[in-house]
Parts: sequence; structure tokens; C-alpha cells
Amino acid sequence: MTAGIIDGKAIAQQVRSEVASEVAAWVAAGHDRPGLATVLVGEDAASAVYVGGKQKASAEVGIEGFDHRLDQDASHAEVEALLRELNADERVSGILLQLPTPPQVDGARLTEIIDPAKDVDGLTPISAGLLAKGRPGLRPCTPQGVMELLRRHDVALEGAEAVVVGRSELVGKPLASLLLAENATVTTCHSRTRDLAEVCRRADVLVAAVGRPGLVRGDWVREGAVVIDVGINRTEAGLTGDVEFEPAAERARLITPVPGGVGPMTIAMLLRNTLQAARA
Ligand code: NAD
Repeated sequence: MTAGIIDGKAIAQQVRSEVASEVAAWVAAGHDRPGLATVLVGEDAASAVYVGGKQKASAEVGIEGFDHRLDQDASHAEVEALLRELNADERVSGILLQLPTPPQVDGARLTEIIDPAKDVDGLTPISAGLLAKGRPGLRPCTPQGVMELLRRHDVALEGAEAVVVGRSELVGKPLASLLLAENATVTTCHSRTRDLAEVCRRADVLVAAVGRPGLVRGDWVREGAVVIDVGINRTEAGLTGDVEFEPAAERARLITPVPGGVGPMTIAMLLRNTLQAARA
């Protein structure tokens, strides 16, 4: 078998144009334009590129952007004051604090003061709790992007064996909850998992979210499985994922490439979350 490629770029583009039409309809119905506030502290080049991409994508779908940039030496209190201001600002539907922050700013703690109604990254304890309890709420963007890729390829999840490698708050844990909510039988693996290869071989849907190039070997993929590679690793050979792509693609039914798979979905889902927050 040679796997079909899941084209995340094309699917992300579809989601973005859907959001653009929905934003236009929302505004035409007399509502305020949704607004996305991004907060970047410091000069980390990669973070600046991410924030720039998020603001540009927002503008393209008609979401108003509030692009806040603070100096590298901004204090924790300064960032906190800005977040509280944004919580109170009615023009702002969604708030995103770009992580990581410089050492004097406790980014994890500050994420927790974001109003859960504006938590478009889905990372506050309230959002995580709502997800765990299966209640409506804002979900983290990358796991939602993975679910959207599966949905648009009609991957059957009910009763399926889903294996998620990685248990981070950002990706692995919320993704396991989202898969469980679709009635998959979910196994979460991590750095202490015994015999990772054997667990992966059980998967109908195998997701790698670790950050180690080629960790998931081709022969860990069950024939006909769907393989989703969340990993983004910068190597001498360029960007690669966590899955050994060629041999995995020989066994899988569907697979995401890196780049061009899960990556583009994250921003698309952020836009959708911002619209959802505005509507709520
Ligand atoms: P993280 O470092 O927070 O978590 C990594 C997880 O992998 C941990 O739970 C750890 O237990 C597990 N792990 C580590 N070594 C392992 C091993 N040998 N075997 C099994 N599990 C192991 O990372 P993260 O934030 O979840 O990100 C994971 C990857 O996804 C990274 O490459 C990151 O760049 C990428 N990522 C991509 C997007 C996107 O938009 N596509 C978004 C977020 C993260």
C-alpha cells in the first residue's frame, strides 16, 4: 500500500475561507467584527514570525488584529496588566499570549489569567476542564486541527484504536480527550511507555507529537493505518516530523507530510476559535 497524502495546506485554506464567509455574515448581521489580540514579549525571531503569521491570517478573514509587542525586559506585572486590559476590552474576542516568554515573565501563570471566554488557545485550566468534562468550550488549536484533518478525510473514529504518542498540555493530552469524545479507544504514550513499538502497531489512527525526528519507525505502522505527524523538527535536511515518512507511507492508508500536514491547520483553527469566541 502507498498512503494517500493528507494535504493540510489545502484543508487549512478551506477552513480559512469558510471562516472568512462566516465572519462576513456575522458582521453583515450587525455584530461587531471579531478581534484577536496577540501578545509577544521579547525578540525571539521564531515567535515573531508565528505572531506575524497569525495577525496576517486574521486580517485576511476579516478579524480585527490587536498586535501587542513588549520589550525583552518587560516585567511580569506589565504583561499581566496588559492581559487584564485585554480581558476587559470589548473589541477583543480572543487573546493569545505567545510562548515562550523571557525568564522574568511566568508565561504559564499568565496564560491562566486570560478570560476563559477569550481563551482562543484553549490552554486555561477552565478550557482544559471543560474539554475533560466533554462540555462546550474553546479547544487547543493544534489538536483541533488534527481532528479536522481526520473529519475531512472521513476517518472513522468510533471504536477505532487511536494511539497518541506524547502527553503535553498543548497537544497530546487534549488530543486524547478529543479522540475519546469521538468514541475512539485511546492510548496515550510518553517517554516512559514500555514497548512503544508494540503499542503503536495496534493503532488504526497513530498520532506522533513528540519532537524527535524519525522516532516512529515505518514498521511501527499497522497496514492501513492513518498516520498523523504533529512533530516539527529542524534538522540539517530541513523540516521533518516524528515519523519515518517513506517506510510509514508504504504501510499507511493516509499520512500527513511535514511540512504541509498538521502545521498549517493550527492557525486556521485559531481563526475559527476567535470567531467562536466572538459569537459566544
Ligand atoms: P513537549 O515537549 O511538550 O511534549 C513532548 C511529549 O513527548 C512529552 O509528553 C513526552 O513524554 C513525550 N516523549 C518524549 N520523548 C519520548 C519518547 N522517546 N517516546 C515517547 N514519548 C516521548 O512537545 P509538544 O509541545 O507536545 O510538541 C510536540 C511536537 O509537536 C514538537 O515537535 C512541536 O514542535 C510540534 N508541534 C507542532 C505544532 C503544529 O502546529 N504542527 C504545534 C505544537 C507542537
